[in-house]
Amino acid sequence: MNKQISIIDSLNDAQRLAVSAPNQAMLILAGAGSGKTRVLVHRIAWQVEVEGLSIHNILAVTFTNKAAREMRGRLEELLQISAHAMWIGTFHGLAHRLLRRHPKQAKLADTFQVMDSDDQLRVIKRLVKGLNIDDSKWPPKQVMWFINGQKDEGVRARYMLESGNIYQDTMLMLYKAYEEFCDRSGLVDFAELLLRAHELLRDNEDVLQFYQDRFKQVHVDEFQDTNTIQYAWLRLLTEGKNNLFVVGDDDQSIYAWRGAKIENIYNFQKHYPSHQVIKLEQNYRSTGNILKSANALINNNDSRMGKELWTNSEDGELISLYTAFNEQDEAYFVVEKIRKWVDDGGLRQDVAILYRSNAQSRQFEEKLMNTATPYRVYGGLRFFERMEIKNALAYLRIMSNHNDDASFERVFNTPTRGIGIKTIDAVRLIAREQQISLWQAAVILLNNNSLSARASNALKGFLNLIKQLSGEAKEAALFEQVKLIVEKSGLIEFYKKEKGGKAEVRIENLEELVNAAQMFDFDEENEENLNELDMFLAHAALEGGEMQADDYEDCVQLMTLHSSKGLEFKLVFLVGLEDGLFPAQQSTDDVARLEEERRLCYVGITRAMQQLYLTHAESRCLYGKETNPRPSRFLKEIPVEFLQEVRIRANVARSMSMPKRAKYSAQQEGTYKLGQRIRHAKFGEGVVLQMEGEATQERVQINFQGVGLKWLMLSYTNLELL
Ligand code: ATP
Ligand code: MG
Repeated sequence: MNKQISIIDSLNDAQRLAVSAPNQAMLILAGAGSGKTRVLVHRIAWQVEVEGLSIHNILAVTFTNKAAREMRGRLEELLQISAHAMWIGTFHGLAHRLLRRHPKQAKLADTFQVMDSDDQLRVIKRLVKGLNIDDSKWPPKQVMWFINGQKDEGVRARYMLESGNIYQDTMLMLYKAYEEFCDRSGLVDFAELLLRAHELLRDNEDVLQFYQDRFKQVHVDEFQDTNTIQYAWLRLLTEGKNNLFVVGDDDQSIYAWRGAKIENIYNFQKHYPSHQVIKLEQNYRSTGNILKSANALINNNDSRMGKELWTNSEDGELISLYTAFNEQDEAYFVVEKIRKWVDDGGLRQDVAILYRSNAQSRQFEEKLMNTATPYRVYGGLRFFERMEIKNALAYLRIMSNHNDDASFERVFNTPTRGIGIKTIDAVRLIAREQQISLWQAAVILLNNNSLSARASNALKGFLNLIKQLSGEAKEAALFEQVKLIVEKSGLIEFYKKEKGGKAEVRIENLEELVNAAQMFDFDEENEENLNELDMFLAHAALEGGEMQADDYEDCVQLMTLHSSKGLEFKLVFLVGLEDGLFPAQQSTDDVARLEEERRLCYVGITRAMQQLYLTHAESRCLYGKETNPRPSRFLKEIPVEFLQEVRIRANVARSMSMPKRAKYSAQQEGTYKLGQRIRHAKFGEGVVLQMEGEATQERVQINFQGVGLKWLMLSYTNLELL
């Protein structure tokens, strides 16, 4: 009894009902911040403590690695046990785990390697080129989307029929060629992980039986964003058992563009007829003003299952709206506010800057760096995705599996070792004709003696290097292996010669990789019997370096709206609210896509607990072009009574097209305004971009024509107003 109380103690009635319901299929359909994830974690705890299940009998799927880590942590806290070996993870992570345990039944090589989407694109580019296909008609990116789209739907190339349409049939031909390539090289892309894991269960009765018996309960967070193959996989695991527990929110479905099927919510209700639905309506996360704004916004969507959230919390502060002069001013404003937050005793980790597209992060990063504010970017180019790191990893991979063609292609001539185009083309030809790996083809070519002495030496040099490294690495610890390749592959000398000032960073990163390997938390008793190297490589591909040491540092969080799903922060900046950026250009005249963008905006707003800032810029440099975007239509969908415009000391000349709100006024009647044109005796004409400091410390940043950006102390400078 005590156990029961302690688990449901901190829950409201509806949540308790969900947590303590008898074991059966359940759907928790509820809005943002209503405690869905909390219910899911408590439900698992309940099943362990009260129903007596072992954590080994439970499977839990979440959307991101970060969410999975958090869930594991919360469970450990609740249950006071280690949930280390428990199957909690992302669909991709869990699928990978299954495939590692049953490579044979999954028809994969024991040494198969996971490639991320960057690797995948490279492979496709080469295929398109190798088959002499016009890449302006079949751009590799589109080919990749096509292939992944088919896989997400569970469709293999061999089951697809030719249509007589040249575009489609060429896509299909490429899909087939790509599949053959991956099989030959022992490579598995992200979509393939899911598809393979599904086929593994579908085609192997004994394997399916084993996992159906093992996983007595299956839980899924963010169910609204599962795609066809993920749902099919869940159904196999829970077939005839009525033991699937899903939580989701139709208003937060933001991955339709990647194959997510909101229909899965309806399908669930059909496929598990004796399920129970529970709705949660109280929001615990946000202040009244934030919540009401979010509700008002999402009400503009027609296709909704319909629910309204309420809260007991105070209304809190109004939502702040800031119109920036340009994107620099926007970043400057945000960083200033963060400084103030920290000065007032706030933690940096409670602050998030959320944006629509990764490219927006740079401005903020620069300003944060300038002010020495620690920050972390999620989802951008992560550590393991950097070029030098991927090259080093490719060495590790080809050492572990000589037939890994993607790695072969990546490093046979990095650093340059004189393997010419002709030689490598000959290798590729043999590989294609004989359906063997590049490595095997290279060996054949060398044995033929058909190469010139120089070409032959160069190629031999590469193969020998890899063989030698594999030999030396055999008995070495993981970090020693990494150190070995960093030192002996020639990568360091190679980058030293690189121009453009990147060399230093690249070399530091390579050294950091050795550290990462040393710090890697290897689970020797892993159920998949993976060796340390393979586990490290899989970790690099699947997590992309999310789990770095600085994860623990108190830093500001930067991420796209998409990756903010499920998270919460006390202070949130939702930036770049401009038509064309957010909502994104492509979605402005398509109702379904516009609604998805609006859901994304809803996700963004509902991340905020205490304070929310919305910002947009009157002028923005976008994809190299100066634009004057209009404020996002989403801003107009938030009722004025919840908003306050932030005035800053500068005058902004142009006023925004939202007449109901207060006019801008200068707090400080300074001579200079943002956007003011000036002339300097030495630097010529320019425009004022930023201002800071007061009295004798006052500085302005000016963009001078032809000279660029300069900070000038006003007390030392004479500027002529134009
Ligand atoms: P999202 O849709 O964004 O994923 P969610 O529905 O999963 O949100 P949670 O993250 O589980 O919501 O909960 C939101 C916040 O509210 C968390 O800080 C959580 O601890 C808190 N919370 C949820 N339920 C309660 C409750 N009954 N009492 C106190 N706090 C609660
Ligand atoms: Mg959640």
